[in-house]
Amino acid sequence: MTGFALGVDEEEWCGRLRALSAQRLRPLAEKGEPGRVNRPLLAALGEEGLLERVFVSGALELCLLRESLAYGCTEAETALALQGLGAHPVLRAGSAAQRERWLPGVREGRLVAAFALSEPGAGSDAAALALAAERDGGIGPDGGWRLTGEKRWISNAPEADFYTVFARTGENPGAGGITAFLVPADRPGLTGEALDMLSPHPIGSLSFDGVPVGPEDVLGEPGRGFRVAMDTLNLFRPSVGAFAVGMARAALDATLAHTAGRGAFGGVLADLQAVAHRVAEMATRTEAARLLVYAAAGAYDSGSAEVPRRAAMAKLLATETAQYVVDHAVQLHGAVALQRGHLLEHLYREVRAPRIYEGASEVQRTIIAKELYREVAAR
Ligand SMILES: Cc1cc2nc3c(=O)[nH]c(=O)nc-3n(C[C@H](O)[C@H](O)[C@H](O)COP(=O)(O)OP(=O)(O)OC[C@H]3O[C@@H](n4cnc5c(N)ncnc54)[C@H](O)[C@@H]3O)c2cc1C
Repeated sequence: MTGFALGVDEEEWCGRLRALSAQRLRPLAEKGEPGRVNRPLLAALGEEGLLERVFVSGALELCLLRESLAYGCTEAETALALQGLGAHPVLRAGSAAQRERWLPGVREGRLVAAFALSEPGAGSDAAALALAAERDGGIGPDGGWRLTGEKRWISNAPEADFYTVFARTGENPGAGGITAFLVPADRPGLTGEALDMLSPHPIGSLSFDGVPVGPEDVLGEPGRGFRVAMDTLNLFRPSVGAFAVGMARAALDATLAHTAGRGAFGGVLADLQAVAHRVAEMATRTEAARLLVYAAAGAYDSGSAEVPRRAAMAKLLATETAQYVVDHAVQLHGAVALQRGHLLEHLYREVRAPRIYEGASEVQRTIIAKELYREVAAR
């Protein structure tokens, strides 16, 4: 890829992924229950080798994967991304035993992973999390902890097979006192319930009632869990933007087709300058977002010091742009777009949440400004 265009091989791969998502994955998604984990869909993602790609790809490849799947099937995109989010901490910080036990099943789409950071009292301010890990000398030769508290808005909960859980072991205040644990779903004291969201997103809450965990369940080192969470989010942040770009491109293409064919006032909608100019604006903003996402992913892959700023800009612009594009796509389609089951009715529900999760737009602006002023101070 150059700074401005994908290479032929990358374009071809994206084309194959778009076809796969429309032809094989969409029918599986349609058979699933909205808001619930779709295991046949995950198994298909495993069979196609796409879950494996999440773990071996760089950030750019991950973005192309997410964008292309989102174009044809948002549920497939989300299922894939959530496996990555939940299992990436195991890949990066897990012991050999943890990796061997869990990652093959995640790659095959047999085992469902989840990333459990947010709590009722700690969303944007994740370092304020309160889930307590209290020392329990009775477990294992080296002692362990018992987890007590609640996690909320956890994608794939309560149906996941294991959770990457961030809890307060208290080595230090704030972020320094957080430890990451791998908690299998069948641990005694762990329960959960599904939450019904606007988007068809599998999500729920988890309740921990003295759940036992031992040193072998720690991901990385005690007191270093916040770093594990941030490493994962840094990789995934530009790719949330890619998900948004995939949705924007799907909405744009649907709008081009619709306005070119819909008869009105003796011609078609596209003959009206107000319509054509709106489509031009949608296309231009989508392209700008796409390029910013690729640039952020490229910065991550080259180990650039600019990753925090670029990733935040990409996520911010792409998610806000997708909202703009999908909203105007609905407008230019008229009533038909609001009919239950229409692509745009679906995208209208899907496009809202990414502006909130993995750092709300306001949080991204704060990161961008902080990085800009840090650069000024360093000059
Ligand atoms: C569909 C979906 C899936 C999710 N999946 C997961 C998951 O798998 N794992 C997980 O751990 N969490 C998950 N979350 C939770 C998500 O990470 C939180 O919703 C997010 O961090 C925001 O937290 P909050 O909702 O508590 O909002 P709050 O933190 O209460 O913020 C509310 C609003 O206040 C404003 N705001 C907040 N902070 C600032 C600031 N610094 N400056 C200016 N304005 C600010 C923003 O407008 C923000 O939207 C998911 C959420 C959704 C919607």
